[in-house]
Amino acid sequence: MVTKKRAPGQVPDAAPASRARKRAVAPPSPSARAPKASGVGAAETKAKANVKARGATQRAKPLSKAECAEIFRRFHDIEPNPKGELEHSSPFTLLVAVVLSAQATDAGVNKATRGLFRVADTPQAILDLGEDALREHIKTIGLYRNKAKHVMALCRRLVDEFGGAVPADRDVLETLPGVGRKTANVVMNVAFGQPTMAVDTHVFRVAHRIGLSSGKTPAAVEKDLERVIPPQHGVPAHHWLILHGRYLCKARKPECYRCPIADICRFEPKTPAVK
Ligand code: SF4
Repeated sequence: MVTKKRAPGQVPDAAPASRARKRAVAPPSPSARAPKASGVGAAETKAKANVKARGATQRAKPLSKAECAEIFRRFHDIEPNPKGELEHSSPFTLLVAVVLSAQATDAGVNKATRGLFRVADTPQAILDLGEDALREHIKTIGLYRNKAKHVMALCRRLVDEFGGAVPADRDVLETLPGVGRKTANVVMNVAFGQPTMAVDTHVFRVAHRIGLSSGKTPAAVEKDLERVIPPQHGVPAHHWLILHGRYLCKARKPECYRCPIADICRFEPKTPAVK
């Protein structure tokens, strides 16, 4: 992708609006989709280090309600219907994919689940497949042995207690093997259209840099985001923030020079365009 050079701190409003905004949340190109592992486990430590190192704590003042609304209005303007990148065809396949995605890339999970879901895409089918065969399908994913155990136990619970269906209840989801708060929030958001906020490493970092939260834990950031995100944007906000962090507000070097919310974001100093 050819990136147009801009002056440091220049806001994208000065650029061709539709193109600049499209690139801001949507992946800029397939080659730029460098897979990044995401997970709440590492989120807190990594993001806190990044936040400190990159000066996000130098915020001048808290974001106002109007500024928060404007941020999400712009994200909506750029991409009204953002999509996640984990391939799935049902709440169950989404749940399995998210369980497998801990400390792994979405691309790596998709590669493994394509073959798995072709032969088994229901809890009973995976139980019938057996743990050895499941392990074989997912052996390219980190921590696959433990994940295989979790998925088998998860399928057993779903079959025995929920008739093979994924319960549309976050509290219940969190009781399932291998399912934590982040996974439950993703499933509630993507499969059941609920305005939940899954705080992974990208969301944690971006929320701090922009000034949407100063929470020290994923749970605190989740609470802050639920409070400041306008209700009408509660469902897509999860994807907007993840994609923004993955492709634009990157951990090592945010691309502030082409960011559609640079004039509102509290992060300093803004990064200039590469010369
Ligand atoms: S740190 Fe830079 S890229 Fe990230 S939201 Fe702020 S202005 Fe945008």
